[in-house]
Amino acid sequence: MAADKAHAVVIRAVPFGETSAVVTLYTRELGKLRALAKGAWRPKSAFDGALDLLSTCQVLVLRRSSGGLDLLTEAFLERRFRVATSLAAVHGGMYVAEMLDALTADADPQPELFDVASTTLLHLSDHEGPDSLVWPRVVRFELAALRAAGQAPALGRCAECRAAVPDTGRIAFGMLDGGVLCAACRRGRRVVVSVSSAALAVLRGLRAGSVERPIDPPVLGELRAVMNTYVAHVLGRKSRLSPRLVPVLPPRSTPPRDA
Ligand SMILES: [Zn+2]
Repeated sequence: MAADKAHAVVIRAVPFGETSAVVTLYTRELGKLRALAKGAWRPKSAFDGALDLLSTCQVLVLRRSSGGLDLLTEAFLERRFRVATSLAAVHGGMYVAEMLDALTADADPQPELFDVASTTLLHLSDHEGPDSLVWPRVVRFELAALRAAGQAPALGRCAECRAAVPDTGRIAFGMLDGGVLCAACRRGRRVVVSVSSAALAVLRGLRAGSVERPIDPPVLGELRAVMNTYVAHVLGRKSRLSPRLVPVLPPRSTPPRDA
């Protein structure tokens, strides 16, 4: 049985017996796989920290042909995900892992998606700057993962008839239709929300790859509400992280009360 070499991100690890683990890896070369890592959690394990959640590593895997668990024989740590001061960055990293797990099929390699995930984790790891620089990266990754799954939301043209939708005011977004709807197609549709053209413009910019500009908090709040709902429709359940992906606004100062 030949061993396959791959670049991997650790997206889940659960205990197996006393000291072993079953790890879910998203790899560049082999797609998603689940593998047994024998003795992974022994004090002096050969894997040595390479299998921590969100680590990027090089692995050697013995593939099982009959649908059983693969066997992880080696893992070399390339980069550990470091937690600095930003809770948003940690939640963002966990969301990357959750989406890679939920939106990809086993053994279906998509190198572009791996590269976006890996770059996103690189920027979120050790992040110490403002949270406003975290969210664009998370949304950029989310859109890439949805596209890789064939579920990219329509953002510029009607999801139904492909007509251009206006880029001002508020626009209908059909959760079941997979994106924005023109006025004619909107009629009679179920589960439609209304999105501001500002939020749609930000989404289109992030889809095209711009991630350096912070998103205005009200626009971000609206954008997350739409994307959390859309992802829930795609997955058939809410993301575990969705409540954590909302911007924390500074508390409003309370007006002084009369004595
Ligand atoms: Zn239409």
